Amino acid sequence: MRITRVTAYQIDLPLVEGRYSWSNGNFVETFDATVIEVETDAGVSGIGECTPLGPAYLPAYAAGVRAGLKELAPKLIGLDPRDLGTLNRRMDAAMRGHPYVKAPVDVACWDILGKATGQPVWRLLGGAQMERVRLYRAISQQSPDEMAAKVSAYKKEGYTKFQLKVGGEADDDIARIKACAKVLGPGDVLDADANTGWTMHEAARVVNAVRDVDVYIEQPCRSYEECLSVRRRTPLPFILDENIDGLAILQRAIADGAMDAINLKISKVGGLTKARLIRDVAVEAGLAMIIEDTWGGDIVTAAIAHLARSTPEEFLFAATDFNSYGTKDIANGAPKRDPDGFMAVSDQPGLGVEPIREALGKPVFSIGG
Ligand code: MG
Repeated sequence: MRITRVTAYQIDLPLVEGRYSWSNGNFVETFDATVIEVETDAGVSGIGECTPLGPAYLPAYAAGVRAGLKELAPKLIGLDPRDLGTLNRRMDAAMRGHPYVKAPVDVACWDILGKATGQPVWRLLGGAQMERVRLYRAISQQSPDEMAAKVSAYKKEGYTKFQLKVGGEADDDIARIKACAKVLGPGDVLDADANTGWTMHEAARVVNAVRDVDVYIEQPCRSYEECLSVRRRTPLPFILDENIDGLAILQRAIADGAMDAINLKISKVGGLTKARLIRDVAVEAGLAMIIEDTWGGDIVTAAIAHLARSTPEEFLFAATDFNSYGTKDIANGAPKRDPDGFMAVSDQPGLGVEPIREALGKPVFSIGG
């Protein structure tokens, strides 16, 4: 089986809430998604998606996905999409860095491998470790009262885990964490994600002020060293996200005891092949994981669901159902949130999703024979 064609589509994904805001005044109102289709000479094709959280979150941006794919796609023609180790080595040899460009290619090839072998991707990634996947809800940065009201509203939709977007003024963030903790009950879990937005002294003030609150602290500062410094002065459970972008830094962070959990995003690390490796190392090190992506629609949500379902249950902190944050369906068969805050994962071969052609529109480019 050989790759014969790579086609890219651009889709706008508007939000149910209208706007998503996080640290340092950043926000996105319409997400810019890239969906790719990888075709083969065997009549089997696969799909993948990459949707960055704007240009100011990670070293990634939406137009960059398409520019990178245009550069990379000619090098993929003729490769066997089922040989994922070879495919990843060839991508890394052809283009340094840019994991977010390679991620949708890798995911599309996992979709092909699943269809070619008649197996759902979750089985190929390690097999079912749970029936359904537990979800968390990200709470966009607003005033403390507005955020507490959102937590209450999403609790009614079945969620029990909440990630607050903090990383603003320290006093405001202390008020946000305390206001949201008040509306939670037994069994609920709160995570305050600063998305690198605090300087060390601000982070020190916040963790000290909320030391009696049952809350996780996620990625307080920009650099790994700053986060490690904050970690060493708080007993609160600690999550690293933006800094954990590959195996090398994960190994260092494990050696340093730098966190209790990581946030594993498929496009941050370059696709499911590399995410699986990081997931397996994290499990061996006793680290729980939030499994998600930078953002996405139905196809990203499906890829998350397959990786999450094949992760040992006690190490899956939660996953994200990005397709419930947006207003636009781009694929049929994608996981949908159940009323109790879980999502089921398809048993169909591959990712189990079929792109909705009219939602994709006309291709931005198509490379191959
Ligand atoms: Mg995060």
